[in-house]
Amino acid sequence: MTNTQVTVLGLGAMGKALAATFLTGGVSATVWNRTAGRDAELVAAGAVGAGSVAEAIDNGEVIIAVLLDHASVHQTLDPVVSQLRGKRLINLTSTAPEESRELARWADEHGIEFLDGGIMAVPSMIGTPASSILYSGDKALFEAHRATLELLGTAEFLGDDPGLAALYDFSLLSGMYMMFAGFFHGAAMMSSAGVSAQEFAQRAVPWVTAMAQGFPGYAGAIDSRDYSAEVQHLEFQQAAVNAIVRASRDAGVATDLIAPIAELIDRQIRAGHGAAAFARTIEELR
Ligand code: NAP
Repeated sequence: MTNTQVTVLGLGAMGKALAATFLTGGVSATVWNRTAGRDAELVAAGAVGAGSVAEAIDNGEVIIAVLLDHASVHQTLDPVVSQLRGKRLINLTSTAPEESRELARWADEHGIEFLDGGIMAVPSMIGTPASSILYSGDKALFEAHRATLELLGTAEFLGDDPGLAALYDFSLLSGMYMMFAGFFHGAAMMSSAGVSAQEFAQRAVPWVTAMAQGFPGYAGAIDSRDYSAEVQHLEFQQAAVNAIVRASRDAGVATDLIAPIAELIDRQIRAGHGAAAFARTIEELR
């Protein structure tokens, strides 16, 4: 139990989960949402339902924004910026790193303490051991409210750069989206032989889990830029990925997802790196 007065702005699926978890943890919460009437359950559970953003901010010592995007944060907070002076703002809205940095500058100009966060969880995970939230920006703010933030999930401070948590968030999400898209591609291929996606998933989960163990090895090559390879060099990978492209076409599956990977490998080989390791394709990206 902490005695921080928290205000949650935004009662979408995530805002509701955050506010409910604060209440369960004994934290006093004021809640506000643009569309009225979405606070009924939270108010019944002990939250104060604010009729306006101004009232919500008045009630809170720590203001948590969990809105749709960067534009919605400004749309909500710009009109009440003078009231935010001296308050502590934690942005848990998914904003791109540059947008988080912009919010930090904006907050600084207006005398608002600012911490940015990236929620690595879905609403049902909030408050469980599976939930993790990454933070960056004002370390003192983070430390002062760490116990309150820990109610939501593991709270980790990454550094002073207010864009760093968002950068981690979006980098992890990029891996997630490409993994899911890869699963969809494989499932589409398997459906050409009448295999259900569920059946394919049973094999894909242990396979992808085992393959993820390769990340540290790839990371070593990327960080050292030592792309020497004794086996499975880029020419080997080119043959393998080209075969996947042909198998996809034969199965009537679009190559929109796999073709760019073949293209990255081709470009590296054309640049004279055919004997290098697969990890060298990162040099086409950065
Ligand atoms: P959501 O259910 O779609 O809710 C969006 C919220 O933003 C609603 O409260 C909505 O208010 C409000 N909103 C939208 N535009 C607004 C504007 N212009 N001014 C004021 N309020 C506005 O989304 P969510 O799942 O709660 O997600 C909220 C944030 O958490 C997003 O940035 C999302 O990326 C992030 N996040 C979500 C998840 C997840 O799994 N859901 C996971 C990690 C991070 P109205 O009710 O008035 O429309």
